Amino acid sequence: MAVVEPPRTRVYGTHEVLNQAPPLEGGNLYARNRPLVEAVHREGGAWAESRLMELGEVVGGEPREWGTLANTTPPILRTHDRYGNRIDEVEFHPSWHELMKIAVGYGTHSLPWREPGPGAHVARAALFITYSLAEGGTGCPISMTYSAVPALRAQPELAAEWEPHLTSNEYDPRLVPVSEKAGALAGMAMTEKQGGSDVRANTTVARPLNGGGPGAEYEVTGHKWFCSAPMCDVFLVLAQAEGGLSCFLLPRVLPDGSRNRFHLQRLKDKLGNRSNASSEVEFRAAWARMVGEEGRGVPTIIEMVNHTRLDCTTGSATGMRAGVAQATWHAAHRSAFGKLLIEQPLMQNVLADLCVESEAATIAAMRLARAYDEVAAGDEQAALFRRLANATLKYWTCKRAPWHAVECLECFGGNGFVEESGMPRLYREAPLSSIWEGSGNVQCLDVLRAMVKSPEALEALFAEVDEGAAAEPRLAEFSADLRRDLGSDAETMQTRARRLVERMALALQGSLLVRHGDEAVADAFCASRLSGDWGQAFGTLPPGVDFARIIERHRPAA
Ligand SMILES: Cc1cc2nc3c(=O)[nH]c(=O)nc-3n(C[C@H](O)[C@H](O)[C@H](O)COP(=O)(O)OP(=O)(O)OC[C@H]3O[C@@H](n4cnc5c(N)ncnc54)[C@H](O)[C@@H]3O)c2cc1C
Repeated sequence: MAVVEPPRTRVYGTHEVLNQAPPLEGGNLYARNRPLVEAVHREGGAWAESRLMELGEVVGGEPREWGTLANTTPPILRTHDRYGNRIDEVEFHPSWHELMKIAVGYGTHSLPWREPGPGAHVARAALFITYSLAEGGTGCPISMTYSAVPALRAQPELAAEWEPHLTSNEYDPRLVPVSEKAGALAGMAMTEKQGGSDVRANTTVARPLNGGGPGAEYEVTGHKWFCSAPMCDVFLVLAQAEGGLSCFLLPRVLPDGSRNRFHLQRLKDKLGNRSNASSEVEFRAAWARMVGEEGRGVPTIIEMVNHTRLDCTTGSATGMRAGVAQATWHAAHRSAFGKLLIEQPLMQNVLADLCVESEAATIAAMRLARAYDEVAAGDEQAALFRRLANATLKYWTCKRAPWHAVECLECFGGNGFVEESGMPRLYREAPLSSIWEGSGNVQCLDVLRAMVKSPEALEALFAEVDEGAAAEPRLAEFSADLRRDLGSDAETMQTRARRLVERMALALQGSLLVRHGDEAVADAFCASRLSGDWGQAFGTLPPGVDFARIIERHRPAA
């Protein structure tokens, strides 16, 4: 019998992978973030260096993969159990819990309260940035827990009960009474359907159970349109009491172990921040206790918002750092037209411009963090500086983040548009910080309000700007123009608020870069952002900038 040979398969070699950048994996995410390391040392957080180095090493590994998993497998709402009982629970992918364990374990929510002292907020901000390079969504409950503590101190007996749990470095996700918990987390619920910026429009009501007043028990009834991280153990909530809008502490589980009447209606289907659950919630005569004075709900909860706003700024700086690390890495490995992208003059301009923005954001965020340490030490000048710098930097840093993310994404070409690259996640996350804790316009109006109420705050900001202006004529000229415009035409102030606040932020960033930043970065910043030798997109720095030096400073080493 004749043997029939099988037909030969011709190998065409269509799948040889060439000229693709290797993934950026491993490495110490803290150590390689040079502007951050320098800022930690300069601003008083050097004592936390070994902790930061350790966290940097940890998050450079497996947590990055967990971040992907937590975002591609979003949380699921379970309103009822199999028997029809309300449970109001959210189920997360195990990777979420792993990430939370790390964040809590390193004290990214607790450090300044457990170890108060010089540099504590600086060290904590650096932990937050380093940790968030692996994943952004978990930053929400972390930031809210960090920020709830100072607000809660308005009611010392409630602080005494909750603070030891909120500042514990053990992650305990169980919904059980706080007395049984190894550690607890806090959230906030202010926003309602009819108004988020204007919380005075809140319709949620609080009825006293035993006479009412600070620390007393109430029943809270109403809805909240946004309530993130609803598996937190306790929430600071705004509701109308008889004497006006007041702040309440509302736990998920009552002291007797039963669930509070905290009913989750839906989870939001969000653009980004998908690992994190953001819910709509109804309180049906939920048990709560008043925090601070009746009718003083906004000033009480503002103490929390002041801290979460800092994290919006550091969070946006983190997104920029993540984008710059990825974009410079990719460009150093991908060739086009016979040369690596990183060697092409126009791509160098894009990358350097992105690096300049990232360094400006980091350096300013860390200076702002130092103001929190100074305020804690009783420095009144720092309180004035922080009052204005917080809203100013939150506005501008968060505004720049989406532009920055999209340009980092484009450095990858088509790969950047594909989920596997991680760049779409970075891009979707970028607009969020500008919205929550007071969106862009609200920040600008807050700056105007602060300038009217305490003109000394503006002087404190300019005192910082002037320190750089003395050494850099371009900054001096920019600052003088800005002062003139701030003092002119009071009637159009609101219309011009974005322009003014943007320039205040640029002046502050410029001053910090001139004094403490890399020389080439500072020079590029002054030429472009302050002197206007710049286009309307990234990649429009003038010739003469030391592109290679700037990129090298920010590029992760092989
Ligand atoms: C993912 C996510 C999670 C959130 N989590 C929480 C949470 O946990 N708890 C919570 O309480 N809230 C949360 N929020 C709500 C968030 O804080 C609000 O969305 C935000 O404060 C804006 O409020 P709003 O949506 O009602 O918009 P609006 O207040 O209606 O504002 C709409 C627009 O108008 C602008 N605007 C408002 N007033 C003025 C004015 N006087 N002049 C000019 N412009 C103005 C704003 O800047 C904004 O651009 C979350 C939001 C998101 C997106």
